[in-house]
Amino acid sequence: SYLDQIAALEPTIRSYLTVTGDQALAQAAQVDDRIAAGEDIGLLTGIPIALKDNLCTQGVRTTCGSKILENFVPPYESTVTGKLRDAGAIALGKTNLDEFAMGSSTENSAYQITGNPWDVTRVPGGSSGGSAAAVAAGECAVALGSDTGGSIRQPASFCGVVGLKPTYGLVSRFGLVAYASSLDQIGPLSRTVEDAALLLQGIAGHDPRDSTSLDVKVPDYTQYLKTDLKGRKVGIITETFAAEGIDPAVRTATEKAIQQLKELGAEIQEISCPRFPYGLPTYYIIAPSEASSNLARYDGVKYGVRNNNDSLMSMYTKTRAEGFGPEVKRRIMIGTYALSAGYYDAYYLKAQKVRTLIKQDFEAAFGQVDVLVCPTAPTTAFKAGEKVDDPLSMYLSDLMTIPVNLAGLPGLSLPCGFDDQGLPIGLQLIGNALREDLLFEVGYAYE
Ligand code: GLN
Repeated sequence: SYLDQIAALEPTIRSYLTVTGDQALAQAAQVDDRIAAGEDIGLLTGIPIALKDNLCTQGVRTTCGSKILENFVPPYESTVTGKLRDAGAIALGKTNLDEFAMGSSTENSAYQITGNPWDVTRVPGGSSGGSAAAVAAGECAVALGSDTGGSIRQPASFCGVVGLKPTYGLVSRFGLVAYASSLDQIGPLSRTVEDAALLLQGIAGHDPRDSTSLDVKVPDYTQYLKTDLKGRKVGIITETFAAEGIDPAVRTATEKAIQQLKELGAEIQEISCPRFPYGLPTYYIIAPSEASSNLARYDGVKYGVRNNNDSLMSMYTKTRAEGFGPEVKRRIMIGTYALSAGYYDAYYLKAQKVRTLIKQDFEAAFGQVDVLVCPTAPTTAFKAGEKVDDPLSMYLSDLMTIPVNLAGLPGLSLPCGFDDQGLPIGLQLIGNALREDLLFEVGYAYE
């Protein structure tokens, strides 16, 4: 039935880059056989799932939304997709994204524009826009995305679905094509908080193949799905309401949601995180710096497309000039500049120091409250084409999600209403490190 839905809607939504229908049916038949043989397969038995196309899937093309990986078929499986398969999930295909996960609208994909299912003339957000749109359009039950500065939560907000960025290190990055390694995390997109909890359960856990993976016991998240918040302390981040450019409708919906949390028994207080607003400029030094280093591997030798064999230098330059799109080139230039001798201290080192200050603000806040709350994004979904020529205004989309990545904390976005055009609005809950349980608890009670 999901494949039928894909066939019916893809001409307008375009959330998938690759649909692996035959493989999905074969996999489903295998799962049936395993059940018939009496095997207890697991948590996600028979659940049809979509995968962001920056997750390596053995034998299935993985493009990262880039021309440079147009022909790349990974010889290995990422840890998360392998875990899902072992737990009985059925992969339906690979979803569209901004090239190398750089963007907030999925318009930076080298292949196609994805439509927001609520209004196809609008963007689904990004960079996991294909995954969010696929969930919203019923083209999969759940999906995986990746989030470096907001790429799960912002598209979840724009598409009216639930999205979680886990604590840094909770989910293995092995087989996730690296954008900014100290910020990247894989996480679920789903229609309910319960589905997000189940999917996180399926992908979390220590992995010796990722040196930043945390060696912690993964709790049973479903036990935290409760309906009363008596005694829970929820903090409103003052700075997120003071920020410029927040839609009045987003503000109103967030205030209403906070009122509802109060009615559910939560104690509400305002908390200042004074360095929160510096997240955005800090991120746009750190993320491009890491990206410029990570993307050095695409040289025409080891992966994907190779253009021109005349000489080594012309192979490098032609492959990269033709293979990367404009946003990726912009980030590589910013990153190499910030890391250059003479500028390193002024930019990169400074940004790392501010990153620590942002983290300290959160630490102080979590000394007082269990969960922080703010809007996920300053606006609802904007029109396709509206911001493509204005990267700075595009970057502002992630104002409220980025500090969470810089501090390595978990963040959950869940629907909290609509604007006057009927477009969904997202509420962000932020937790202390490894306190996904609290996000699920508060999110489930609210939902
Ligand atoms: N929109 C942000 C960027 O362009 C975040 C992307 C992400 O989280 N992958 O970098």
